[in-house]
Amino acid sequence: MIGLEIHAQITALNSKLFCSCRGNYRELGPNTNICEICCGLPGSLPVINQKAIEYSAMTSLALGCKVPDKIMFYRKNYFYPDLPKNFQITQYNVYGYSSIGVDGIYELDDAKQIRISRIQLEEDPGRIAYSEGSMNVRNSVLLDYNRAGVALIEIVTEPDFTSPKEVRQFLNKLSLTLEYIGVCDTLLEGSVRCDVNVSMEGGNKVEIKNINSFREVEKAINYEITRQSSLYSRNLKIELETRHWDDRKKITFKSRSKEEEHDYRYFPEPDIPIIVLGNDFVSNLKKRMPELPNQRFECFVSKYKLSEHTSNILINDKKLADFFEATLKVHFSPTEIANFLITDFKSLIEDDSESTDYLKNLKVKPEHIAELVKLIEGNKISRITAKDILVKIFESGMLPSEVMNNTNSYKIADEKTLMDAVQSVFDKEKSAVEDAKTNSEAINFLLGKVMKFTNGRADPKIAMRIINNKLHNPDK
Ligand SMILES: [Zn+2]
Repeated sequence: MIGLEIHAQITALNSKLFCSCRGNYRELGPNTNICEICCGLPGSLPVINQKAIEYSAMTSLALGCKVPDKIMFYRKNYFYPDLPKNFQITQYNVYGYSSIGVDGIYELDDAKQIRISRIQLEEDPGRIAYSEGSMNVRNSVLLDYNRAGVALIEIVTEPDFTSPKEVRQFLNKLSLTLEYIGVCDTLLEGSVRCDVNVSMEGGNKVEIKNINSFREVEKAINYEITRQSSLYSRNLKIELETRHWDDRKKITFKSRSKEEEHDYRYFPEPDIPIIVLGNDFVSNLKKRMPELPNQRFECFVSKYKLSEHTSNILINDKKLADFFEATLKVHFSPTEIANFLITDFKSLIEDDSESTDYLKNLKVKPEHIAELVKLIEGNKISRITAKDILVKIFESGMLPSEVMNNTNSYKIADEKTLMDAVQSVFDKEKSAVEDAKTNSEAINFLLGKVMKFTNGRADPKIAMRIINNKLHNPDK
């Protein structure tokens, strides 16, 4: 049984959760993005970021959770160097109040349902930088509180996963959902983290902390399953413990003994009143909810008549799907444009697809693709030529028609030119010509030669007709 506890920063926010320090702490000098509130100096008062409540509520709705009409915050007390206040302001489900989301169901693509126990809004701690050695062997640590107080959404699932693969499917789908809502850029370093608990039948629950990217989660679970199975097969006890993931050695290791929930001494945060969201909050939010991956899929299949396969490829890459729809606004030809984007276009950008803004810096814009597809549909260029032109647009940013005229790559439909091309091929390929009189495969071979002879520019239909004519009426 595997359960997850995911922390996703609300990277869309300009400021932290309770103060006006910057939400984007990255690339700032250590301890330059702090104030008396996020450092918890005496007398400072937190003020809740309204947008953070909206984003976390949207996330709750997208994950099928109920959003209550009142929420409150709690202090979770613990002493750890990354926590300047010695408590974290978080949420807790007691006294009839709940966190921003509860009791959700999130469906995987194979229809398996994962229960979401709760979603809560809380603040991120600071960062500990280990100056030398690993966290087991060290003489000193450095502390950077720039991140302390950044808004964080915690998503807790029930232990409903039965394999590392299901976990991966869930995290992929979750990342996509977060991206569609615009709440979290999961590609930013440290923006999503995951704790995992793994238990086997008859064994204790082991929690693995500190997995700093979704990509490492599957590896950590696989390692932990192997470790626990090995203990089990030797009749050794699987201890109830917290372990850490070492992403360099790719192992989990035992860490400080885990606090029990009652050690945290949760109590209501006295400096933030109960927040009444009101009855209209959820219905208003639903009206403003961005399109989610599933809804977009439905739209692509029903409105644009794309195949499920093609729709899936597009919606799983939000930026490409946005690019696709922008192209449709210039020229509405969904099937042709979708096919062109996921084959020729994507094959040229594959290398950069890991970076966040891989489409933003391209010289190719939706207008280019629209014009290129129009040229194909208007029978001005062949598909092979279109790909060559695309390569040139990638380099130069020129319009497709410009490239076509500069390189004389328009399609050859002129009968006389094509007849000459076919004649040259027939002269060279005498045995294939004989063969082709009875064998249709050989005809395709001849057509291929004609295409090659014309650098892919021959109109294949006309060329085929000329070949057939010539084969069966050699005198004409
Ligand atoms: Zn601050």
